[in-house]
Amino acid sequence: MNGPVLILRAAELAASAHAGQLRKGRGQVPYINHPLAVARIVSGFSRDAEVLAASILHDVLEDTDVSESELADSFGARVTALVKELTDDPAWADLPLPERKARQAEKLGGTSAEARMVKIADQLANIRDLTAEPEIWPRGRHEDYLAGARAIVAACRPAAPELARKFDDSAARYAAVIAAMA
Ligand code: ZN
Repeated sequence: MNGPVLILRAAELAASAHAGQLRKGRGQVPYINHPLAVARIVSGFSRDAEVLAASILHDVLEDTDVSESELADSFGARVTALVKELTDDPAWADLPLPERKARQAEKLGGTSAEARMVKIADQLANIRDLTAEPEIWPRGRHEDYLAGARAIVAACRPAAPELARKFDDSAARYAAVIAAMA
């Protein structure tokens, strides 16, 4: 499969897998917008089609019915391995946010450079969305989220320092918005 075909097939599968899921917030934004935003951020730093496909698919094992073998059949071993690196252990689902973020940071320290790059882009996309719609959460939850995202990016930073600096800029804007909340 050539690069553009791989990327478009990833978008097609992710769109059907996430069908009916919405992003948090008032806009009724389809969930698929999030992995596409993550892949677009990654595309500024990598032209590797398998990494971009994995960016688009990064939440399908965690949040949809798509199975590992389905991914392996359609996208091959490397994309599947990347998505697995980006998937939380199901046992973490019920942990409080700060603890879940701490587990993620710990796990990511031992993953591939490509997975860590996608994870920084994921955190960047999420804090951009939260900065635009802070009213969806109380202030304390934002503070926990930002601290957790910073810990994750600290664990991933050596894999993509330039992207991590972009995250820092957005994190500073997010922190200012949080500080202005009641
Ligand atoms: Zn994500």
